[in-house]
Amino acid sequence: MRVTMLGTAAAVPDPDRNHSGILITEQDRHYMFDCGHGATHQLIRSGVNPRDVDVVVLSHLHYDHIADFPFFLLTSWIMDRKNPPLVLGPPGTRQFVDHLFESGAFTKDIEARTQYKNRQTNVHVLKPRVKECEPGVIFEDELVKITACYVEHIPLEISPCFGLRLDSTAGKSVVFSGDTAPCERLVDMAKDCDLLIHECTFPESALEFRRKINVGTWAHTSPTALGDIAVRCNCGSLVATHFGSFDTTWPVVKEMLKVHMPVDSIGPHTMDEVARDIRRCYPGDLRLAHDGMRIDL
Ligand SMILES: [Zn+2]
Ligand SMILES: [Zn+2]
Repeated sequence: MRVTMLGTAAAVPDPDRNHSGILITEQDRHYMFDCGHGATHQLIRSGVNPRDVDVVVLSHLHYDHIADFPFFLLTSWIMDRKNPPLVLGPPGTRQFVDHLFESGAFTKDIEARTQYKNRQTNVHVLKPRVKECEPGVIFEDELVKITACYVEHIPLEISPCFGLRLDSTAGKSVVFSGDTAPCERLVDMAKDCDLLIHECTFPESALEFRRKINVGTWAHTSPTALGDIAVRCNCGSLVATHFGSFDTTWPVVKEMLKVHMPVDSIGPHTMDEVARDIRRCYPGDLRLAHDGMRIDL
């Protein structure tokens, strides 16, 4: 099994990190978890044709997890994709998908391009199969089984968020937290997995500031809490991801981030702080994700 981190940022526009996306490849099949901005380009950088990705699982419907989906599907349509992908996600996924294509945001584009006969032959791929899921097993084929649990991110009545676990029939397991505050359901689901990919949006040094501005304080996991979670999951290996661009060196990104965290906490040095805080509890194998990172299991 191969895991490729397509995007490793949270919601900030950051030229160094794309938004959430993970590709899991088992034998010749690709399963994409999230499709945040940049995911399609990252597939190509990873040597994967977007046409060949047939299963897309959306952890939740925040834009940093879904914004590349229309680009992903429209570009693979005009590059002769043969079959529509299967899209799995929380309730609301169907509305998101239905408002993009035939009678949605890209109606005129599709009408224009289907004037060419070639484009008409596979226009059906723009009607993806959508399955809105509940916690439990959400997908199974001969190679993998995917399980979902609710995590703690957006109030459930507005929009559920999923943590996801993929088990291969060959015996390997990967868990992705989605976006979440520390969540016992996720810890239970991740028990003894080979690889835990967990969000780590803000460093400890930003948390006091964020408590004062009262935005997103209950929705994410701190590095210290992540170390504790990884120990309790007994994961074989930990990848921290979904970084709030706190390591940026771009002046404009720093300027934008000032409303989210203290300016002293922005810069590459903060990644050292994050690693140190995860390590307070967790002595095991640790990677801090970057775009394009590849992990073989
Ligand atoms: Zn996010
Ligand atoms: Zn989110």
